[in-house]
Amino acid sequence: MGLQAMRGRELKPPLRPAQPRPALASLPETNKVTNLAQAKTALRFPVNPDTRAFYRRFYPDTSTREWNDWRWQMRTRIRSLDELARIFALSADERAAVERHEGALPVGITPYYASLMGLDDPSEPLRRTHIMTGAEYIRSPGEADDPLDEDHDTVVPGLVHRYPDRVLFLTTGTCSTYCRYCTRARVVGNPGGEYQFSTRQWEKALAYLEAHSEVRDVLLSGGDPLTLGDDKLDWLLTRLRAIKHIEFLRIGTKVPVVLPQRITKDFAKMLKKHHPLWMSIHVTHPAELTDEVTESTSRLADAGIPLGSQTVLMKGINDDVAVMRPLMQGLLKRRVKPYYLYQCDPIRGSAHFRTTVEKGLEIIEGLRGHTTGYATPIFAVDAPGGGGKIQIAPDLVVGRDGDDLLLRNFEGKIYRYPDPGGTLGRDKRRLAAE
Ligand code: SF4
Repeated sequence: MGLQAMRGRELKPPLRPAQPRPALASLPETNKVTNLAQAKTALRFPVNPDTRAFYRRFYPDTSTREWNDWRWQMRTRIRSLDELARIFALSADERAAVERHEGALPVGITPYYASLMGLDDPSEPLRRTHIMTGAEYIRSPGEADDPLDEDHDTVVPGLVHRYPDRVLFLTTGTCSTYCRYCTRARVVGNPGGEYQFSTRQWEKALAYLEAHSEVRDVLLSGGDPLTLGDDKLDWLLTRLRAIKHIEFLRIGTKVPVVLPQRITKDFAKMLKKHHPLWMSIHVTHPAELTDEVTESTSRLADAGIPLGSQTVLMKGINDDVAVMRPLMQGLLKRRVKPYYLYQCDPIRGSAHFRTTVEKGLEIIEGLRGHTTGYATPIFAVDAPGGGGKIQIAPDLVVGRDGDDLLLRNFEGKIYRYPDPGGTLGRDKRRLAAE
C-alpha cells in the first residue's frame, strides 16, 4: 500500500459507528444471560478511576465490556490528527509534526494508554513518547535508520541471528502503540511495506531454525507479538516448541502495559502450554503502573511466566532516580524483575530523547544499595553497528593496597577486602592513595 493510501486510511474515523445499545429488558432471554455473563467477566478486569473518567468523557457510548475488550482497544486506536486533536490539546509543534509525517511508525495510541497521558501538557512524559514533535525530523550525527545493523544479521526475512545460540524472530510489524524512539522505526506500523510478516515468511524462519541446532533460545519480537490473535500465536509457539534443540522461548512485548486487557484468562492459559516461556515487558514510567497493569502482570505470573522488564532511558522522561526508583520497585511489587535499562539507541531523529551515558550510571548508582538488589536492572548500550549489548556498570574498585582490594560501597565509603595474590585494582593504587 502506498504511503498516501495509508495516510488516507488513517484519516478515516477509527471509531466504529456508535450503535445504540438495546435495553437489557428488550433482549431475548438467552441474550440476556450471555450479556450478563460477558458483563460480569468484563467487570473482573479493573478500570482505574482516572481511566474511567477519561472514557466516560471521550468515549461516552462505550460500555465497560467494550472498553475491556482488547480488540475494541486495537480497533479504536488513536491514529489520525483529528482523533488526536479531539482528545489532546495539541501544541503547534505536535500538530505540524503529525501533519508532516509519512511512512512507518505512524501515530498509534490505545485509548487506554491515552487515558494515562497528560491531555493538556505536551511535556508530560508518556505523551512525549507517543505524540511526534518537530525534533523527530532532525537527524543528528551518528544516527541511523537501523543503528543496530539488524538487517545485516538477518538470515531469512524476519529472523536475526547475531549471537551464537539465540535468535530474534520478528513476528509482526504491528504494535498496539507506536513509541517515537523505537529502534525498529523502519519496520513497524508500515502497512504494505517490505516488513510484512506472513505465515509463509514464518515457515522460512522455522525451516532455518530446524536446520540450526546451535539455536537454543528464540526471542519473539516485532512489532509486538501480543497483537497477534491467540490462535496464530499458539500455532507459532507450538511449531517452535516442536523443534527439539530449542530449549526455551522468550517474548518481548509492551502490550501488558499499553493494552493490559489483552491478557485475558484464556490467553494466559494458552501461553502456559508452551513453557519454558519467558517474557520481557517494555515499561517507561511509574505512571504506567496502574490497577490494570497489576492485573495483566498477575495473570501472566500466575501462568508461571517469569517476567522481566526493559526500559529505555530518556531525557526528561525517566532520567531521574526519583522516577526510576518507584518504577523498579513498582515492577517488583507486580512480580516483574527489572531486567535491562537501555541507553537510547541512536535511531534517526532521537537526539531529543537521548541522555549522556553517565546519566545511566548515575541512575544505577542511585538504585544499587539504596533499594532491594532485585530492583537494579542491568544498564547496557546496544552497540551501533551490530556489536550487541554491552553492559556498563559503575566502577566500584578504587584500588589495591598490598593484599587488600579497595572497594567503594553505595554510601561512597571505602572498604578493604583481603585478596592475597590478586591484581585487580593495582593500576588504580595511586588514585586510591590520592
Ligand atoms: S512497542 Fe516496541 S516495537 Fe512497537 S513501537 Fe514501541 S518500541 Fe517499537
